[in-house]
This record gives sequence, structure tokens and C-alpha cells, in this order.
Amino acid sequence: MINRPFFSCSRPKLKYPVIQSHKKEAVKEIPSAEKVTLLLERAYSPIDDEILKVGDEVRTGQKIKMTDGGEEYFISTVTGTVEGISEYIGYLGRSHTSISIKVSEEDQWDDEFKEISKTVSPENVMGFLCRLPGDSHLSSLINPVTFLNTIVINGVDKDLLITTNQLIVKTETQTLKEGMAYLKKITGVSQILLVVPPDLVYDAEKTGIEIKVINPVYPNALPRIVMKNILKRTVPAGKKCEEMGVGFINAEAVAALARAFNQGKIPVNKFLTVINKDGESVNVKARIGTPVRDILNFLHIEVNHGDRLVLGGPMRGNSIYSEDLPVLWDTDSIMVQDKDQIIFNSDTPCINCGECVRACPAGIPVNMLVRVLENSLYDEAVNEYDLLSCLECGLCAYVCTARIPLFHHIMLGKYEFERIKSMEESHA
Ligand code: SF4
Ligand code: SF4
Repeated sequence: MINRPFFSCSRPKLKYPVIQSHKKEAVKEIPSAEKVTLLLERAYSPIDDEILKVGDEVRTGQKIKMTDGGEEYFISTVTGTVEGISEYIGYLGRSHTSISIKVSEEDQWDDEFKEISKTVSPENVMGFLCRLPGDSHLSSLINPVTFLNTIVINGVDKDLLITTNQLIVKTETQTLKEGMAYLKKITGVSQILLVVPPDLVYDAEKTGIEIKVINPVYPNALPRIVMKNILKRTVPAGKKCEEMGVGFINAEAVAALARAFNQGKIPVNKFLTVINKDGESVNVKARIGTPVRDILNFLHIEVNHGDRLVLGGPMRGNSIYSEDLPVLWDTDSIMVQDKDQIIFNSDTPCINCGECVRACPAGIPVNMLVRVLENSLYDEAVNEYDLLSCLECGLCAYVCTARIPLFHHIMLGKYEFERIKSMEESHA
């Protein structure tokens, strides 16, 4: 495995946006949808019908087990009737279970968590808050692979043009403070840091959390670079930050944790940044599961044939082909690009200009890496061209002269490498 220095010398200077609004009222609340779709990160299996059936009534905040006697569950974000359970194939070909729910007019909250929330414990978090808005895997902080000594709360978003987590730091200082206390209690970790850009220091100080200020140049908010720049630790290729004793969580998830225990209700709303075709953005609050279409309609954003819809930001986001896809627990942004602004990828072969290599903050020979990935040589990609050192920043694709979709080649390569490895291990 190659271990490369982290920083090369010639990278584009792309700055994170600075949140403009100081007020919660500036956040637009999306009205209740007629139908929501919940996508579960588990392969679809018709056997699930034994527990949850089409026609079942569900309540808001209700914990629903997927299999009889199993531990896996999901939380209904609305009150209504299950209309369909099916398979959805998502990014990189991952299979999900899709549950569509026809929403009732009256929101009826399930009260099982209300009593549970009186006790703040890791068991109760694992049992009811497996997903929090803004963070998909709180379990990695509660049941870490190795002992955690530090948790970093990210107050900067992981992509450009997005201000979802900045919004939380700006408008929810008290909730963040309470969330940090809950986080300490359930994880036992005493050092908690809040990472913010310089413009948010004044607001962040009100939380009482130890602040670390980053230079707001992309991709400085990505965990491996925070590790390097702030904590002065290099994460070796193929390792996770948690394996180095450091966990990461978004500011939105910390605030959601506080709301859950303060109100006795499982959070079901997601804040997100919607970026319009002219680059203007607005922060909205929507029920998880709301179709993208409802949000765009509410904001009077028209999507025409040939326009591009992206979940996420310009560097790391994924294009989606349908406005019916829902807002998920970790959807931080929806971006709409006019067809005339889109720079299309191409089939042009690499011209070996070296721009990607100069731009890569992990010092990866991206020009060579992409050659082996295009030929599905995943072991070579890992062992000879350092695939697992990739920080997933997308800068290589941004600068690529030949417009090769380098970022998605890399993401697919990582996914396939892990998938094949776990298949081989299970057959060993
Ligand atoms: S996405 Fe590209 S530029 Fe970024 S770390 Fe990975 S290989 Fe390097
Ligand atoms: S930037 Fe694109 S064209 Fe240039 S070396 Fe890298 S992959 Fe090849």
C-alpha cells in the first residue's frame, strides 16, 4: 500500500460559501407532502412483507421493525398508509428497500419514544435514533471499532454552495450546546470540537464548545483533512478516522439529538440547501421522504428537459433522474443546473496532462488510477495506485481536461473493491 503525502502544490482555490441569513425565519418550511418515500439502506427482500404490509397504518415517529425478531428498524416520518414496498436501485447500483406512504391529513405522533426519552443512554439512542437528520451513522460513535477520544462536530458542509450545517451553527447555538452534552453522555467522549469557518466564530462561541477554525477553502472541511490540519494526524490509506480514535458528526445531527431528548419526539425534518439554476440558494426544512418535486414546486423552480438535478453539491453530488426521489436523512442539498450550464463528461481518452495529479490533495496518481479502474482492475487500483487514500473530494474530476468522470470512477472502484472483498471473505 502506498502512503503518500497529503498535500500537493497546485490546487484550485474554491471557497466554501458564507451563510447570509442570520434568522431562522428565513428558512422556508415545505408543506406536508401527499406521499412520502422512505429509502432504507438494506437490500429489498419480499420477506419484509411478513412484518410490514401494504395497507398498514403508520404514525409519525413510529419505530417499525423490518423482520420478525430482528434488530433492524426504521422510523416512519409521517402518519399515513403504506402504499407500496419495492426495490430501488440507487447510486453505484446499491439495492434499497423503498417504502411509499400515503400521508394522512392529521399528524399523529407515536408516543413510544416519549417515555424512553426520559433516559439518555446509548441503548435508547441505538434503539430509536439509528438515523438522525444530517447524519446517517450515529452508531459509529456509540459502538466505535476502537476507543474514541475525540468527536468533531462539523459546522461546515462537505461540499461547495451548501450552507445546511452553517445554518445550524448560526441559528441553533443553544440546541447545539445541549446536543453536545447529550453526545458526551451517550458516548463517554470528553473532547468535543466544533469546526467552523472564520465567519461563524462569533455564533459558535455561544455554544460553549471548543472551537477550531478552518481556512474556508475546499476541501478543508472533509474529515481526513480536518484530521491532518486540525488534529495533526494522518489517516493511513484504507483506515477510517474512527479507527484513529476520532469520530465525526454534522452539526445538524447534534441539534437533532438535542431536540429528540428535549421534546420526546424523534426528529423527522431535514434542513437542506436548494441551489437554483442561477446559483442562488435558499435553506428549507422538509419532512424526510418528501419528493424533490414538491420542494421545487414550492420554490417555483422549473425543471425542463435536459436540465440536471443533483442531490448534494457540485463536487461530490449525484445526479438523479426523477423528481419523485425523496429527501433522505443525509440529503444536505438539491442543486438544479440549467441544460445550457452543464459541462458534460466525455469519452475522450486521458491526454496525460497531469492536471488531476496536481489538483489531488492526497497526491494520488489519478491519471494512472483511472486507467486501471476503467478496466475494473480493483486490486491494482488499491495496491499500485492508492485508491483507498482518496478523500472523495472530486477535485480531479473538476480539473480534468478530458472531462472524464474521475470522481464516479473512483467511487465505483471503492464500492466494487469492498463488495468483492466481503464476498471473498464470506466464501473463505
Ligand atoms: S477525489 Fe480525486 S482529487 Fe480528490 S482525493 Fe480522490 S483522487 Fe484525489
Ligand atoms: S486531468 Fe484528465 S486528461 Fe489530464 S491526466 Fe488527469 S485524467 Fe488525464
